[in-house]
Amino acid sequence: MKLSLIVPCYNEEGNVEKFFNEVNRVFETKVEDYEFVFVNDGSTDKTYQKLKYIHSELNSKNNVQVLTFSRNFGKESAIYAGLTKAKGDLVCLIDADLQQRPEVVLEMLDVLNSDEDFDCVTAYQEKRKENAAISFVKSSFYKFINKISDVDFVNGASDFRLMKRPMVDAILQMSEFHRFSKGIFSYVGFNTQYIPYTVAERESGESKWGVRKLIKYALEGIFAFSTMPLKISTFIGLFASFVSIIYLGVVVIQKIFWGIDVPGYATIVALMLLIGGLVLFCLGIIGEYLSKMYVQVKNRPIYILKEHLDDKEDR
Ligand code: UDP
Ligand code: MG
Repeated sequence: MKLSLIVPCYNEEGNVEKFFNEVNRVFETKVEDYEFVFVNDGSTDKTYQKLKYIHSELNSKNNVQVLTFSRNFGKESAIYAGLTKAKGDLVCLIDADLQQRPEVVLEMLDVLNSDEDFDCVTAYQEKRKENAAISFVKSSFYKFINKISDVDFVNGASDFRLMKRPMVDAILQMSEFHRFSKGIFSYVGFNTQYIPYTVAERESGESKWGVRKLIKYALEGIFAFSTMPLKISTFIGLFASFVSIIYLGVVVIQKIFWGIDVPGYATIVALMLLIGGLVLFCLGIIGEYLSKMYVQVKNRPIYILKEHLDDKEDR
């Protein structure tokens, strides 16, 4: 059975060659038939040159594909492109920075082969190497999104996974533009096993995940896999209407029975501001969905390929 390794690369000039050599070393006697599908996601450093060198000079087994995007489309798009071009019956998603060790891929293969009912093996981080505050925010996020969404998200489960072909084909059918892989993996179902792994240090370069990107990613997840925010706006609307009806009732009753005029220019201004704010908040939520529908309806491609280096005849 052929194994395809999909390797998204964004500014990984210092890692790709090491990654290639490490995988070959670890796989040497253990895995017979495998290929690399490097996806150069609009890198601005020398990643492209390095990948071209790997493809033309180091590719003794003729098992390297290099996809180059026209610009940076993000890791999710890189994964999708890799899945589209992978030729294997088994497909593994793995980062280029050697934080996800090729030895773990061997473990995954063992688990997958141990029971033919298994369709997928996913590695999850047992202990996160990050500060306690970020860990706490992440685990709260998972609790929250699991409550409001129909699919299950496993805290700590990474994209680092090995899948059989039917699962890959199912994922490819989900050609939505706003991709949130964790949700997609869970949505397609299949029998998934989890194995713990420890994230190694990055070989070279820096992580592309800052706090801003993480927040954006979390919001993508919520809007892609839950319609709960829309229900929040309905709830806020109902609640505000209820409160205002009671308030008006009290005002009218006071006027009729006791002749009291409710003074309250300031109150009214404050209430208007509050209601205005709530309306805008709800419009904002609707806008989030609308903007995503807008892009989806335009049917924009998930990625744009500038070059695809494949078998020897290309060289
Ligand atoms: N990556 C990518 N496109 C991007 C950002 C990242 O293809 O826009 C790749 C990156 O080259 C690496 C993997 O995705 O192979 C994971 O990225 P990173 O190491 O920055 O994430 P972390 O390990 O810190 O979660
Ligand atoms: Mg990394």
